[in-house]
Amino acid sequence: MLAYIGLGSNLNNPKQQIKNALIALNDTQDVKVVALSSLYQSPPIDGSKQPDYINAMCQVDTHLTALELLYVCQAIEVKQHRVREKKWGARTIDLDIIIYGVQVVASKQLIIPHPEMMNRAFVLVPLAEIEPDLKVPILGNVQDLIDKLDISGLKKL
Ligand code: AMP
Repeated sequence: MLAYIGLGSNLNNPKQQIKNALIALNDTQDVKVVALSSLYQSPPIDGSKQPDYINAMCQVDTHLTALELLYVCQAIEVKQHRVREKKWGARTIDLDIIIYGVQVVASKQLIIPHPEMMNRAFVLVPLAEIEPDLKVPILGNVQDLIDKLDISGLKKL
């Protein structure tokens, strides 16, 4: 199954956090990172006073179920928080499953396609960089979704 995972960080050397998470993903049994976007920088969505975010998107080829893949992502988040972050609350790394094949999931733990993806330039633009003609289940063409957004705050690094 081909899935897309969005990565984001704004603390403790964000570029390194993303690199470490990608290595951890690829080192997971039955998960292979097969494509990777550029890194992007954007201001926090809530306008609060915190460092800019660094985001990227990766495509993975996996034999795991969507829920198993979520657990893998959560384990990587926990591991990188523990190692890097003294104070709980601040996020050093965030991994979100954006798309999992053509599956639509709506459970307590997992919603796919990711419920906020259509509102987030830092998700859609890196996604389109990997797969410009991608058709997102339920939501449609990735480029049509981008056309509805203000992407001026997003900077490709
Ligand atoms: P976050 O604060 O973004 O890390 O959100 C984590 C919570 O979102 C967890 O409780 C997950 O179970 C839930 N969640 C729902 N859908 C997704 C998804 N597609 N990817 C990652 N987490 C998800």
